[in-house]
Amino acid sequence: MVYLYVAIAVVLLAIVLGVALVVPRRRRRDLEPPVSAPPSVAEAPPRVAVEAPAAPVETAVEAPVAPEAPTLEAPEPTAGRLVRLRARLARSQSTLGRGLLSVLARDRLDDDAWEEIEEALLTSDVGVGATTEIVERLRTRTKVLGTRSPGELRALLSEELVSALQPDMDRTLHSTPTGDRPAVVMVVGVNGTGKTTTCGKLARVLVADGRTVLLGAADTFRAAAADQLQTWGARVGAETIRGPEGGDPASVAFDAVKAGTDRKVDTVLIDTAGRLHTKVGLMDELGKVKRVVEKQGPVDETLLVLDATTGQNGLTQARVFTEVVDVTGIVLTKLDGTAKGGIVISVQRELGVPVKLVGLGEGADDLAPFDPEQFVDALLGDTA
Ligand code: GDP
Repeated sequence: MVYLYVAIAVVLLAIVLGVALVVPRRRRRDLEPPVSAPPSVAEAPPRVAVEAPAAPVETAVEAPVAPEAPTLEAPEPTAGRLVRLRARLARSQSTLGRGLLSVLARDRLDDDAWEEIEEALLTSDVGVGATTEIVERLRTRTKVLGTRSPGELRALLSEELVSALQPDMDRTLHSTPTGDRPAVVMVVGVNGTGKTTTCGKLARVLVADGRTVLLGAADTFRAAAADQLQTWGARVGAETIRGPEGGDPASVAFDAVKAGTDRKVDTVLIDTAGRLHTKVGLMDELGKVKRVVEKQGPVDETLLVLDATTGQNGLTQARVFTEVVDVTGIVLTKLDGTAKGGIVISVQRELGVPVKLVGLGEGADDLAPFDPEQFVDALLGDTA
């Protein structure tokens, strides 16, 4: 019986010991699965997949830094712009160019034909004086020339139109600094003609030609004008000096020239207000801007912006400006939207001032230096 108790006690002891040895091992296994399970090839992809999202998180953190870097635009070169934009003169081309060429190509050039030619020139705003001259010279020359091939006629017409555009006029844009003083270009014109847009485009023309530019937002009367100008300038790295809305335009212009001198830029471009209530008001305002700017040195260029679609009306307004300030060049805008391309001829004759630039669209680089030969070539098109 004693043996039986001893045997039971031994068995119980053995069970207790066995349990004590096995349980801790199991616990350890449960706690250390990665160590006890070495990575297999099959397990590798999930690890990559888990790490992958980390990369986008990192770039997302860096992303806001990128837009802070200024991305300056490189304006198109100015040479050849008129050639590139020649198709924009399509409306003037069909009225003036093709219209004249088709009449000239008739078998007989009788009085009716010459009247039609005269009408085409007048319709496209060439003006009475220039029209009479062009028709008379063409009449004489076609009479003298016995045979008239389409090529000869095109050449004759081209010569007469180019000569009416006074190719000898100086169309240089005076934008080169003198000593340590930047060139000062004042831009004047009636509101709505495209004055501020032209200032912006002109800054691009100058930058394309290698100049450094500073803009003066002296049109303090039109609320959006300064913002508009600043946006144009920022695109090509040109600083804009502006004043409070409704502030004194002359003081903004003065500050702009001073800042331009301090920053050693090549050209200071000043946009002015073009309210035309009364001639006296305009005279006072523009005259003051000019006088104040001239305390620091002369104004090198005064560009008058004219809307080509306004015809004779625009010319009347233009005359007022030439009486107020010494206009040295005309910028004729919106030539792309009119059949009245002949206005280039009448504007120059009436005002005695050269057209230096033409606007041929709303695009940033749709402002071209004016060239009489290229212009006439575009008007007459490719048809001989
Ligand atoms: P501002 O009041 O004289 O300063 O006139 P803006 O510069 O604000 O221009 C008036 C409008 O004329 C804008 O919609 C311009 O985009 C447009 N404009 C300016 N120049 C040209 C051009 O050469 N062609 C065309 N089609 N539109 C132009």
